Amino acid sequence: MGTLDTDIKKLYGVGAVKASAYATLGVRTVGDLLHHYPRGYEDRGNIKLITEADGISKCAHILTIATQPKSVRVKGRMSLTKFRAYDDSATCEITFFNQEFLKNVFVPGESFRFYGKIEKKAGRYSMTSPAYEPCREGVELPSLIPVYPLTEGISQKQIAKDMRSAMILASAADEQRDILPEDIRRRHSLCTLSYAMRNIHTPDSYSALAAAKKRLIFDEFFTFALGITAAGAESKRAPAHPCAASDPRPLEAVLPYSLTGAQRRVIGEIREDMAKDTAMSRMVIGDVGSGKTVCAAAAMLFAVQNGRQAALMAPTEILARQHYASLKEIFASLGMTVGLLVGATSAAEKRKIYASLASNGEDRLDIIIGTHALISSGVQFASPGVVVIDEQHRFGVGQRAALAEKNPMSHVLVMSATPIPRSLALALYGDLDISTIDEIPPGRQRVDTFVVDESYRERLNGFIKKQVAKGGQVYVVCPAVEESQVSEEEEADLLLSDISIDELFSERESAIPLKSAVKLSEELAEAFPELSVDFLHGKLKSREKEEKMERFVTGQTDVLVSTTVIEVGVNVPNASLMIVENAERFGLSQLHQLRGRVGRGSRRSYCILVSEAIRKEGSAKERLMTMKSSYDGYAIAEKDLAMRGPGDFLRTNQDSRVRQSGGVRFRLAELCEDSGLMRVAFDEAKALIESDPKLEGHPELKSEIDGLFALDGSAVN
Ligand code: ADP
Ligand code: MG
Repeated sequence: MGTLDTDIKKLYGVGAVKASAYATLGVRTVGDLLHHYPRGYEDRGNIKLITEADGISKCAHILTIATQPKSVRVKGRMSLTKFRAYDDSATCEITFFNQEFLKNVFVPGESFRFYGKIEKKAGRYSMTSPAYEPCREGVELPSLIPVYPLTEGISQKQIAKDMRSAMILASAADEQRDILPEDIRRRHSLCTLSYAMRNIHTPDSYSALAAAKKRLIFDEFFTFALGITAAGAESKRAPAHPCAASDPRPLEAVLPYSLTGAQRRVIGEIREDMAKDTAMSRMVIGDVGSGKTVCAAAAMLFAVQNGRQAALMAPTEILARQHYASLKEIFASLGMTVGLLVGATSAAEKRKIYASLASNGEDRLDIIIGTHALISSGVQFASPGVVVIDEQHRFGVGQRAALAEKNPMSHVLVMSATPIPRSLALALYGDLDISTIDEIPPGRQRVDTFVVDESYRERLNGFIKKQVAKGGQVYVVCPAVEESQVSEEEEADLLLSDISIDELFSERESAIPLKSAVKLSEELAEAFPELSVDFLHGKLKSREKEEKMERFVTGQTDVLVSTTVIEVGVNVPNASLMIVENAERFGLSQLHQLRGRVGRGSRRSYCILVSEAIRKEGSAKERLMTMKSSYDGYAIAEKDLAMRGPGDFLRTNQDSRVRQSGGVRFRLAELCEDSGLMRVAFDEAKALIESDPKLEGHPELKSEIDGLFALDGSAVN
């Protein structure tokens, strides 16, 4: 147990109540607290005169107290403490609520740095509950003040104070030993860890803050890369049943189309992998609609041809059912038995499936398709051969590991949800071999794409009506579930932070109000009383989600308003219009993925991106215009990577091992705009593993990685 593992309760002033509030922030130890990074920083270094205040934003003022503070009681319990303070330009009245002790703090004649919003009414200036710090001779006040993510019961002041104690504790114990090899640190001009920790929490300057971030982001990439590279080296040696007698031709013969060259190549790669006695661990990456499913089907066929069984796990029940529906006949015509196992499967049916999966007799089930129900305890395979995981990023590493565990000695194939640039894929999935389907089957119609602003709202509504009248269906995707997804406190905080981390790293449009799924579906239901409008979002129970989705799939719902939960590869051939609200909020790859939800049938299809951000020139507009001009998922992904850095990919494509595998979390790296930094970190990690596969020469790094990757008991595989 090191100092960083010290319980947060050991900090002075943190009792059981505060500790449980901290726990909701994921902070349990001193080390956790040190990694609880600010969400943004207030610029209190830019001192303005009272008369320079704009009445809208908060800013810093150095004022001298003019009058003795007076407290008055109002409404029984509440007290107001008021006084006046001045600078060279004017006098301002300052009010605090319920803090009578401040009478002794603000002594007339003394100066303070106040940070707040000055309002001017009838020629008089006033400010309410500003932040304040005394100006003392010879003491320079810091200009950048951190703003932390908060929770009920923990204030900014409290965190700042506890952070100071934590820093003192950690540095006194010399716990912030730098585990990054010195040569790597120097090669990339990275600052030391202790400098980085100090400056992320209490930055000396903007440049010190930038250096701190660069270092901490590098560390996140580096440790993650080391972990998966090491795990990959391990999993590639796992034994498996060789499936040498494999032949894709029977499958090709029953398909209603001929395979694309890319599909043929990928199936060849899978066949070669599975012929070996070490486990395949391969990921198939391909654009939406590129036909990944048939590659999965080939892998399953190979297993069965070699006397073994195959499992396909999909993230949702609908998707599992769709796979079952499309694969059942194909496999049946090849003389193979296929079962479906989902949460809703009846208990009796489940028992039957369990029995036939575990049997090697006549009644044996060759192929099972399902959801995470496949990892329930009743499932045992008589002779597992291959495990396929569709839309892998929707699963936790624990779930995937559990499926693999149920199938010892089997090969593993994972299917990605979106095209990601190969360089990034190699980095993120260093433990997997990668197959890319870089060809779309012929004859696909392209989805006409438009980018519009609010002024088109009416025409847009007309268009929705027209699509439905023609028998089509409409998706409307919003970035938020409910009107205000930030709590009031958070909101106050947001206003408070002048530069958010987001802004430091990108120029997101934060001033544009968010459309919410719930609100918008109400509006649309009102606008189209004759249509059936429904909404769907991640906060609903999964049963409810499935039912709503099912109603859309079967055509009972005309317009489905949802958050990105519909991203998952569900097929609704009848859907002809995709509208994305606040499109500026989405990554390009995500938009491409959403667009891929329509145009899956014979209907002429459209994608309309609605964004106020296109009213002015800028990167948001440029990004959205890319969607209009490009229909190639890879080109779009490359553009996204170049324009926004790897952050969006980490958020949307990241396999949950990033979030869920033990303690590995990209806290800052998600905001990283510099894909170069990421590549460098991954390259260094790979080089290090190559020269020192077991990290024997780097015991501290090794214990760090072991700690991070082993927390949930399952090594990455
Ligand atoms: P995704 O890669 O998004 O999972 P799917 O595997 O669901 O794509 O395939 C999308 C559609 O394309 C399916 O309807 C499938 O039958 C069809 N398809 C797949 N491969 C081909 C091909 N080579 N030629 C024509 N259609 C194909
Ligand atoms: Mg798919």
